[in-house]
Amino acid sequence: MPLRRALADLPPYVPGARAAVGAAAYKLSSNENPYPPLPSVVAAVADAAADLNRYPDMYASELVEAVAAHHGVDPAGVVAGCGSVAVLEHVLAAVCEPGDEVVLPWRSFEAYPIAVRLAGAQAVPVPLTPEARLDLPAMAAAVTGRTRVVLVCTPNNPTGPAVRAPELAALLAAVPSDVLVAVDEAYVEFVRDPDAADGLAALREHPNVVVLRTFSKAYGLAGLRVGYALARPRLAAGIRAASTPFGVNALAQVAALASLRAQGEMRTRVDAVVAERARLLAGLRAQGRTVPDSEANFVWLPLGQGAAAFASAAAAAGLLVRPFAGDGVRVSVGEPEATDLLLSWTADLPV
Ligand code: PMP
Repeated sequence: MPLRRALADLPPYVPGARAAVGAAAYKLSSNENPYPPLPSVVAAVADAAADLNRYPDMYASELVEAVAAHHGVDPAGVVAGCGSVAVLEHVLAAVCEPGDEVVLPWRSFEAYPIAVRLAGAQAVPVPLTPEARLDLPAMAAAVTGRTRVVLVCTPNNPTGPAVRAPELAALLAAVPSDVLVAVDEAYVEFVRDPDAADGLAALREHPNVVVLRTFSKAYGLAGLRVGYALARPRLAAGIRAASTPFGVNALAQVAALASLRAQGEMRTRVDAVVAERARLLAGLRAQGRTVPDSEANFVWLPLGQGAAAFASAAAAAGLLVRPFAGDGVRVSVGEPEATDLLLSWTADLPV
């Protein structure tokens, strides 16, 4: 069977390492929430399990209504999907014609170039600044007559910094109004920089903005796969039309709803991760290491060719981290014990 040419040189998406069964290790390789699901979420999932012979609500309407109320937006502008990666695929499917260009930061989330290629579009990667930040002026300059989408990852996975509000405002002022600016805010709940860009505020002012959010990180539901897009209703209808029917399963729908209702508990957990992030950043920097600012639940070590060796040695020490060959290592912020182990293990390593 001939396969599409787009598949031939698709870049890899290597999932974060998992511990061998029974092995003692902290999994700091996939930016997950280290805490187990909340009791209210587990109870909602258990209740919903009794109805699994039925299809779920096709567009997750109860969840969509709750998300809309949470953000103070029109439910017609909310589209849920099977993880925000799937929602991004649906966004691209809704707006890209074959050969269109998608400007994206690089290095950034490794799913981007894959999703762009699968949408039949052409990725135009724009290098980060030396501080591992998105270079929005360079991204604006990379826009051509073929550009359909500009992807903005804030905070940027895997490097950590968030885009600042004036930078996003300048990008939106620079790009034509028929170019979609997709603001991926997967880690937004961990942001503490008061000057960080706010995708939702940008969407209120600019119809060519779509914001992507997920329940996988702060809400701790990575295993259930739920994310959503916030957009103007006309674009949202297009994304919905391009999405998988019944794409959010029944358990994911009730779990996300229950999580949304547990804002206080979610915030307490996020605050704990943010406190660990500060401790980890300060500890690594005190050892003389270069670590960019992070507004997310991970930190980035720009180790270049040393990335793979660092990750293997970390695994042997009981720390599963995520190497990006030849570039750096991303370490998710986990339990305080994981921070302790990481700081004591790195204390003996050469800088
Ligand atoms: N966007 C970014 C920037 C991410 O880092 C991730 C997760 N690694 C996602 C989206 C995907 O999240 P989800 O689990 O909702 O598909």
